[in-house]
Amino acid sequence: MIKVLRLGHRRGRDDRISTHVGLTARQWGADEVVFSGEKDSKMLESQRDIIDRWGGNTDIRYTEDWRSEIRDFEGLKVHLTMYGLKIDKEVEGLKSRFEDGEDLLVVVGSEKVPRWVYHNVDYNISVGNQPHSEIAALAVFMDRIIGLEEDFEGADVFVRPSKDQKLTRKN
Ligand code: SAM
Repeated sequence: MIKVLRLGHRRGRDDRISTHVGLTARQWGADEVVFSGEKDSKMLESQRDIIDRWGGNTDIRYTEDWRSEIRDFEGLKVHLTMYGLKIDKEVEGLKSRFEDGEDLLVVVGSEKVPRWVYHNVDYNISVGNQPHSEIAALAVFMDRIIGLEEDFEGADVFVRPSKDQKLTRKN
């Protein structure tokens, strides 16, 4: 089981980024994506609509109490931050814990992540020690640990991969 927690959503300003965090988490196999910060029902609904159409069982929800999401999670807790340990050094250990059956929580931030997070996860992991993006960090981390999810149950629409056309088929 993989849960992604997105901290500090700001309505209006972060709509696209938060939506892309959710869709990226789903594409790499997250079972659940939890958003905290400002409650934004429209942003959550738009992701649910995409999932309804494109399939899969990723659950999208909001919490005010992000600390409990971390504190109460039973499994491996990883926070992605430019200040963390290098992914290249830690990835094999993390991957084998996940493959041995531990659930995985991946936390990404937005503007400033409270220190509490750094001290209440098992690992702070960097994808390069330079500032970039929660979407990029999440995609790279998930790809190294899990790989792409290709099977989205119950989809209404599918892409037919093509060299030069935009092809879809409906169920
Ligand atoms: N100073 C921030 C930090 O602590 O990484 C950068 C803020 S960035 C706009 C928002 C989020 O992107 C961060 O909270 C973190 O989850 C992720 N992020 C950005 N750069 C990263 C990196 N090099 N490695 C891992 N995660 C990163």
